This record gives sequence, C-alpha cells and structure tokens, in this order.
Amino acid sequence: MPDVTGKVYLVGGGPGDPGLLTVRGRECLARADVVLYDYLVNPLILAHARPKAERVCLGRHGRDRIMPQQEINAHLVRHARAGRTVVRLKGGDPIVFAHAAEETAALVEAGVPYEIVPGITAALAVGSYAGIPLTQGDAASAVALVTGQERRGKPSELNYKALAAFPGTLVFYMGVTTAKDWTAKLIAAGKPADTPAAIVRRCSLPDQVTISCTLARVADEIAERKLRPPALVVVGSVAATQVGRDWFTTRPLFGVRVLVTRAAGQAETLAATLSDLGADVPVQPAIEIGPPDDWQPVDEAIARLEQFDWIVFSSGNGVRAFLGRLFRSRDARALGAVKLAAIGPASAEELARHHLQADVVPDEYRAEALAEALQQEAAAGKRFLLVRASRGREVLAEELTAAGGSVEQVVAYTSRDAQAADELVAEQLRAGEIDWITVTSSAIARSLAQLFGDELRNARLASISPVTSATLGELGYDVAAEASAYTMEGLVDAILHAQREA
Ligand code: SAH
Repeated sequence: MPDVTGKVYLVGGGPGDPGLLTVRGRECLARADVVLYDYLVNPLILAHARPKAERVCLGRHGRDRIMPQQEINAHLVRHARAGRTVVRLKGGDPIVFAHAAEETAALVEAGVPYEIVPGITAALAVGSYAGIPLTQGDAASAVALVTGQERRGKPSELNYKALAAFPGTLVFYMGVTTAKDWTAKLIAAGKPADTPAAIVRRCSLPDQVTISCTLARVADEIAERKLRPPALVVVGSVAATQVGRDWFTTRPLFGVRVLVTRAAGQAETLAATLSDLGADVPVQPAIEIGPPDDWQPVDEAIARLEQFDWIVFSSGNGVRAFLGRLFRSRDARALGAVKLAAIGPASAEELARHHLQADVVPDEYRAEALAEALQQEAAAGKRFLLVRASRGREVLAEELTAAGGSVEQVVAYTSRDAQAADELVAEQLRAGEIDWITVTSSAIARSLAQLFGDELRNARLASISPVTSATLGELGYDVAAEASAYTMEGLVDAILHAQREA
C-alpha cells in the first residue's frame, strides 16, 4: 500500500450563483491545498479556498484545451499521494454528467480516500431560478435528465422512442450545439412538435435568460439568437408555466452591472447588497489598504493612551488597525476613561465589534460635522488622538486645533492607489458594458481617474457624498447619482432611485 495521507473531495459547486455552494463544500474548500476546477464553476467560489491554495483550471468542455480525463485522474492521485487535501470542484452536481465514475474508479484503484459533496445541478436551478416547476400534478409526474450530446465518436445510446413517451419533463443538458439533431430525433420518435420548451441560459447568474418556444423551434431560436452554452432545454408542458416565473429576473437591479471599487476585504458588504438586488457586481479595488510604514508612533501613543481625552476615528479601517495593534500589547483597560469618536456608522460599527461604544457619531458623516460635534463637547484644552490613514483630509485636525484642542495624529494604515485594473473589468468599461461605478471616497475617485482616465465616462458614477462628488467634479467627471445618507446603504439607494427614474 502506498503511504497515502491526502484525500480527495469531489465537490459540486452549484449552477453559478456562488451562494448555492453547500456548507460542506465550503468547508472542504477552506481546507484544500489544491483545487482543480472546471470552467463552469463560478470563480467567485474559489474565494473560499485559502489564498495559498493552488488553483488549477482544467479547461473548457468541448474545446481542445480541456485536460483529458486520464490526466485529471492522474493529477488527483498524484496530489493526494503527496499528502495534499484536494478539492475537485465541478459545476452543478459532481455526479450529474460529470465523469465522476471515472475519477472515483481511479481513486479506488490508487487507494486514495475520497468524499463526494453534492451540489445543485443545473436542472434544479432552472426549477427555482427560472420558475419552471419540473414536476407538476398529473402533467409531469417524472423528470428525466438527458444529455444532448453523446460522447465524441460514439453512436447514440439514447432511445428517443422511450424519451418521446416519457410521462413527464425532459431536461436536456449539453444540448445547445446539437439542438437540431436531438429535437429532430425526438419529434421523429413521436413527441409532438408543439410541445412547450424553454431554453434557459446561464441559470442563476446575473445574465440569466429564458426563451420560451416549442420543441420544433428550439434549434432555430438557438441559431437566431446565437445562444452559446451553458444552457438547458426543458421540454414538456411545465415549460409553458408563466406564473411565478420572474422573481429572479425582475429584481430591481437585474441586468445592471455595477462596479464596486472599495479595497479588498471591504468590498463584500456593498457587493452583496447590490447582487441581492440582482446586479452583476464585478469588483475592482481602486485602493489597497496596508499596515503603516512605521508602527512606532502608534505604539508610542498606545503606551500613553491615558494622556488623551479623545480618540477620534475617521474610518473603519482606522478602528481595525489601531485596536488590532493596541490589543497586541495591552488590553481593554488601556482605553480607561478615554472617549471615542467615530466619523460615521461604519466606524461606530467597527468599534461595536470590539465591544466599544462611540461617544460621538455626527449626524452627517464627514470631517466637518465630526469636528463640530466634538466642539460641542467642548474641545478647548482637550487632548485628541486622531487615528488616520497615510493620506486624507486635514480638516479635522485644523478645526480641533482652532477650537483650542491639542491634537496628535498617528497613521494607523496606508492607503495606496491600485496599480493596474483587472483586464476583464477594463474591457467591459471600454465596451460600455458597465452601467455604474460606485465611488465611495475621494481617494477612490482619484485612483479611478488614474486607472481608467477618459473611459470612466463610459459608465455612470455613483458618489457616496458631496465631498466625493466635488473631487470627481474637480477631476472633470459628472456624477449621475449621489447618496443622501453618506453610507453604503445610501449609495445603493441612490443607484436604485436613479435606475427607477431611467
Ligand atoms: N455537473 C453539471 C453538468 C455538467 S454538463 C450539473 O450538475 O449541472 C454541462 C452542462 O450543464 C451545460 O452544457 C449546460 O447544459 C448545463 N449547465 C450547467 N450550468 C448551467 C447554468 N448555469 N445554466 C444552464 N445550464 C447549465
């Protein structure tokens, strides 16, 4: 017996929507050393793997550059024998039209332990996301999952007579390029040419499309609309269902592409809110957040925190960076009686996450308002510690000093412009395929101008606040929507509002 310590997980990644991965699938990804994935898998799912996990794309079905099955099997065995935890990630379910038997046979032969984690197969996604019930009372008492494509070079094994007589719904996988062939055979075998059909392309993804027609029209619809895989074709009376069909595609931002530009690690909430509303949400961080060049000033301030009356945080990043540093050398008692000010709800929430309550949060989330709120608390003679980024506005320090406060500033994190734009995002913007770009700070506005220049005008700009809008204006860009509450929620509302007007 070989000394096998690794294990292979055959994991179903679901049909496309990254939220349809199972909890077990996510666990497996989180512990994987190497992930071998099919092109059908939504790359967003790979984010659950550790950054240092090796990610290997096995190529595209139906194309020459797909890795031959034997080679895939060999990779699985080799990695496992080297003691690695391997995730073999497949689109949909790993057992449905997915060569699982070949892979498990190779693993059994090599004595490699494995586990199979089911996923939501495309047909089930069509049932939910395209609202076509696969079974229905007497009209559809059974469902057949059928391949529209026999293996290359092999004669058809399908009995179309039996399929034509099947008492229920037929769902054809891999039937796009071969539609002319299988629809003709099905009709020749006795299935009525006017049987309702539905072609569902990219189900559960932000560009899902459903086309309703008859069985006889399927191939023509595909040709006329130049439809490319992946698509499923549902054949049967249920394909004509109209009621309850549109929940997914009638969400307010469906079909709208919104670029999120916040730093990595902070884009998720905004991106999730927008995609829940139906938007397609590429992420292009415009700035990168990192540790300060020098921690010493922060450490020195932390060592004598008792000398300050206020600690003032001008961003959630600042809260995270400063408190993270503080708790390395001291504990919560270091904060003693010092008061805490947060520029807005995001910073206040970050404080709350550390079991701290902000004493002051201004009604309007900008430096001027925070300075004013602090002045109302009587700033004269008070000692303020301002926790800030490597760049940013000086307003707060100036106003507090002017009000008679003594102000010390420490840089708790650096904020740098992203050096290059993602190629796909740049291409989409060039082609006018991005509807909105969210601009959530002046630093982001400046970085976007550097990254995209004139092409930034190909999309509508949504600004989080008048300060950010003013920066965009100075840079020569128009603002199409501005948040009235200067928060991520406010920004989303502004986009929703503008879309409704459009
Ligand atoms: N194991 C996968 C199927 C792989 S075969 C599963 O269980 O879903 C590939 C075929 O699946 C595609 O040709 C297409 O017919 C179908 N498919 C996969 N994802 C799809 C999607 N999001 N929308 C429509 N069809 C999809």
